Amino acid sequence: MSYRVTLLPGDGVGPELVEAALRVLDATGVKIDWDVQAAGEEAIRRFGTPLPEATLESLRTNGVGLKGPITTPIGTGFRSVNVALRQELDLFACVRPCKTYPGVPSPFANVDLVIIRENTEDLYAGVEFDVGSWEVEELRRWAPGRIREDAAVSLKPISETASQRIVRFAFDYAVRHGRRKVTAVTKANIMKYTDGLFLRVAREVAAEYEGRVEYEEMLVDAAAMRLVMEPQHFDVLVAPNLYGDILSDLCAGLVGGLGMAPGMNVGAGGVALFEPVHGSAPAYKGLNRLNPTALILSGMLMLRHLGEVEAADRLERAVAKVIAEGRFVTFDLRRADDKRMAVGTQEMASAIVRALREV
Ligand code: NAD
Repeated sequence: MSYRVTLLPGDGVGPELVEAALRVLDATGVKIDWDVQAAGEEAIRRFGTPLPEATLESLRTNGVGLKGPITTPIGTGFRSVNVALRQELDLFACVRPCKTYPGVPSPFANVDLVIIRENTEDLYAGVEFDVGSWEVEELRRWAPGRIREDAAVSLKPISETASQRIVRFAFDYAVRHGRRKVTAVTKANIMKYTDGLFLRVAREVAAEYEGRVEYEEMLVDAAAMRLVMEPQHFDVLVAPNLYGDILSDLCAGLVGGLGMAPGMNVGAGGVALFEPVHGSAPAYKGLNRLNPTALILSGMLMLRHLGEVEAADRLERAVAKVIAEGRFVTFDLRRADDKRMAVGTQEMASAIVRALREV
């Protein structure tokens, strides 16, 4: 049996990291029929649009995708392909597991947490008004003395619908993955209506899972401090868009950096798109230097999603073995006092392919 999966190679370092990840995924023995589709600059060149309908259709039909990072050019007309994909496929849940592997340069051992970020609203909804616009003038009339004359304003919509589906997703995720606790992260003491709504919904949903999954609440500032002092305290965190975004990069820093941070986006229609947290790092394009692990672990999450649990476990053990041995790792996984030469992207992937035969 083979799975049909949409592949978006991306741009910048995307294609070389994708090439590395495909060799590793192929070596797991799971048969995947890759449906390669264009997005970003290559798609503009070939089809005149950064996100062709055929790419979206392929993702809708296959239901599963693996994606390399895509550059968002600054100052050109086209909107971010990443944001467009989220909107078109209603990819409402962003799941970012953060786990330390022995040998990774990190001040912590035994971090194993998952950030679940709401992906569709909050300050990312794009409702922004410029200084001097009539909307800002109107808002100034509604909130006298609270918005300065020379202010720009962003709105933060938080809905019951979106909060409910993301919190429910987090609890279901916890149940499916045998996790013990969900922490809801907000700033509900200050934003009583928006974050207050998210928190109220979190409490209601948590009550449905009582006895199965523990529930905890934390203000985002306290959560940031606790994460850098005692990350082992956490299991699954669920947060509105902005806090989720910031905390997931913070957590990538706890487990060895962007080269170690995989992710998945899940849509309302069941589409699951797997991609690393990092971007296209254009300065490294073609240099064969960056760490392929974030993309390889995104592939590992994809195997798990497809039900190929044994292959996913074996792949994770192979990655862990290569990192623990420390011979064939990229520069970001070298501690400053380790004078051994780092290897390139493809060499690290080859080491993982070899390790797959031994784990
Ligand atoms: P970036 O994540 O591309 O790179 C920032 C730095 O992180 C790099 O210079 C490098 O030092 C480090 N890094 C990134 N990936 C690494 C890896 N695999 N191994 C080791 N180190 C790694 O962030 P940026 O430079 O801010 O963004 C570049 C472009 O990527 C922008 O156009 C941005 O919009 C886009 N972007 C795309 C996505 C996506 O496709 N999902 C996500 C974030 C950013």
